Amino acid sequence: MPRPLHAVVHTQALRNNLQVVQRSAPDARIWAVVKANAYGHGIERVFEGLRGADGFALLDLDEAQRLRTLGWRGPILLLEGAFELRDLEWCSRLDLWHTVHCEAQIDMLAAHKTNVPQRVFLKMNSGMNRLGFVPSQYRAAWTRLNALPQVDEISLMTHFSDADGPGGIARQSAVFEAVTADLPGERCTNNSAAVLRHPIHAGGAGGAGAAGPASDWVRAGIALYGSSPDHPAHNAGDWGLQPAMTLCARILATQTLEIGDTVGYGSTFVADRPMRIGIVACGYADGYPRICPTGTPVLVDGVPSRTLGRVSMDMLTVDLTPVPLSGYGSEVTLWGAATNAAVLPIDDVAAAAQTLGYELMCALAQRVPIQVEN
Ligand SMILES: *Cc1c(COP(=O)(O)O)cnc(C)c1O
Repeated sequence: MPRPLHAVVHTQALRNNLQVVQRSAPDARIWAVVKANAYGHGIERVFEGLRGADGFALLDLDEAQRLRTLGWRGPILLLEGAFELRDLEWCSRLDLWHTVHCEAQIDMLAAHKTNVPQRVFLKMNSGMNRLGFVPSQYRAAWTRLNALPQVDEISLMTHFSDADGPGGIARQSAVFEAVTADLPGERCTNNSAAVLRHPIHAGGAGGAGAAGPASDWVRAGIALYGSSPDHPAHNAGDWGLQPAMTLCARILATQTLEIGDTVGYGSTFVADRPMRIGIVACGYADGYPRICPTGTPVLVDGVPSRTLGRVSMDMLTVDLTPVPLSGYGSEVTLWGAATNAAVLPIDDVAAAAQTLGYELMCALAQRVPIQVEN
């Protein structure tokens, strides 16, 4: 029998979460962001649940190729664009749309030999200071692109740094709208946090509004996978999001502690009363964060409990006090949905690990088998 640890990808949850995004951006088309192998879920595993999106956005050519192999004929966008000239040949071959964020990419386009012009998304650095042309150079970049026979339609794109927090998107939106006001082309702005927290309206030139930026296309990632983009201000449940991934193990052994007994490496947990503990087949080599302290939430047979002591490579320890009937073979939900339908949001575990749901799902280890539940 395989080691009792596996992950489940929930197709129905993906569909639900896509609908949540669609309802929040009813006039926009949705890019389902599937970079990093669909945030650790696997592109092939999420495809069925997300094929209702209008397009898929990602970084790697091999991931784009896998989507074409799955039969996806719709739009695919490379969020970082081409890294070298040869990538543009792949864009032609696989019919990919690509981001243009710097002069070197325009040079590549000018050197690209093709009879079929390419759809590009011209990125503005409106304040994030990661990728894109600064506002003062944006229009010159647009003009240069627009003159190239290799270029078809030009869409206008930017990315928000503070959509999930009190900073908000107003300042960057205003910059973006002012610089692009009289440029033609579709707008593509919001990530998950911006979609859920800042209502948008359909775009088009000059479509500035008080509510939020014009956006013909939104780029939703984390929300699709059921993690709240602005935790802890909102929980996934507040947004109507359901976990797309469950990480589930079983208890391999139990121990009974007397007062003063300790648990695990470094003896960091000391029992202050007699108690029963369970040893779980999941450790940091599976992607469960080692930094999680005593008290990190888990579900045992669907009942809320907590971890005890340090996480080791292949195992961790849980408190069985709240679940007196549990024992060898009991189900332990590290995050996601238990068999009894109780939910442990991945964001709660991420908070204990001082990180985000993003990092936990992306870090699920290769050795953990993943099942798809339809
Ligand atoms: C990853 C990414 C997104 C998706 O962000 P989420 O917070 O996961 O919704 C959107 N746009 C760009 C440019 C990205 O790199």
